[in-house]
Amino acid sequence: MAETKGKADKKNTAKKTAKKRITKKEKQKQELALEIVKRLKEAYPDVDCTLEYDQAWKLLVSVRLAAQCTDARVNVVVQDLYAKYPTQEALAEAPVEAIEEIVRPCGLGPSKARDISACMKILWNEYGGQVPDDFNALLKLPGVGRKSANLIMGDVFGQPAVVTDTHCIRLVNRMGLVDGIKEPKKVEMLLWDLIPPEESNDFCHRLVEHGRAVCTARTKPYCDKCCLEDICGKHI
Ligand code: SF4
Repeated sequence: MAETKGKADKKNTAKKTAKKRITKKEKQKQELALEIVKRLKEAYPDVDCTLEYDQAWKLLVSVRLAAQCTDARVNVVVQDLYAKYPTQEALAEAPVEAIEEIVRPCGLGPSKARDISACMKILWNEYGGQVPDDFNALLKLPGVGRKSANLIMGDVFGQPAVVTDTHCIRLVNRMGLVDGIKEPKKVEMLLWDLIPPEESNDFCHRLVEHGRAVCTARTKPYCDKCCLEDICGKHI
């Protein structure tokens, strides 16, 4: 009996120790995250979405076009789109083929045109032309995934948002905030635990800026010029 109790005590101690280790690791990541948030804020004080828009529905159009395309090209293509279809109603009623003709330079023309058309129809017919300020409602719109829904919640409605685009995923892995995780939803969920909600949206914009200027997708990013050089995990 005494021996059984001894084994049980050992197991419990092992469990507690394992739990303590995980907690310590999480705490270290949280501290690292706060320091990264602080330094990136100093390095990039003014950040905003690089997709240009003056109405919420136009940001929905642009985020769909931005898949596998640069924001700079999207900003040019939407000018042609709105020159022909200046209102949401006009775009909702436009033939899909005509939309495709214009958005083709962004790549994936047929699916992007189909999603934009369907999305505008739903907004116009079911939401009275308004973009819903609800994450789950956004997710139900054609062509809108978690990344886009987060972007809309953050940039249009000023809500906490974690936008896990390619820059974000590359950088947080390199920095050691997440460990070898590439799946966007998993990265998003881990970052929700690490980044203060009120900082989350701007933090993601700052990752984009930093990913373009310093922590580039090249094999060797510019670590010698990086404000995080001394604290980064540099898992390159
Ligand atoms: S130190 Fe290097 S790997 Fe780390 S964030 Fe900076 S540029 Fe990227």
